[in-house]
Amino acid sequence: MCNARTQGIQKGCGHYVAIKTIEVIDCGRPNCRHSAHHACGRSRSACACAKYYGPDVEEIVRTETAWCDHCSSWYEGKGAPRKR
Ligand SMILES: [Zn+2]
Ligand SMILES: [Zn+2]
Ligand SMILES: [Zn+2]
Repeated sequence: MCNARTQGIQKGCGHYVAIKTIEVIDCGRPNCRHSAHHACGRSRSACACAKYYGPDVEEIVRTETAWCDHCSSWYEGKGAPRKR
């Protein structure tokens, strides 16, 4: 399966947040529908080939002490008193 190469930020909570996709690395397999070499001979709708990308190749371009959106919203939702 193909992999996307991304650039992103290493957040203070430990998560990696991708900000852009640089390229898709073609695995060159005929049984992968993302590959330029995809060759099962079926139409895309009938094709049972791999349709998911492999794990991203992560390239950290920046580190931040701030938490990612997911973690900070979880923290605020738990810790902050509700507004009335
Ligand atoms: Zn592939
Ligand atoms: Zn196919
Ligand atoms: Zn996080």
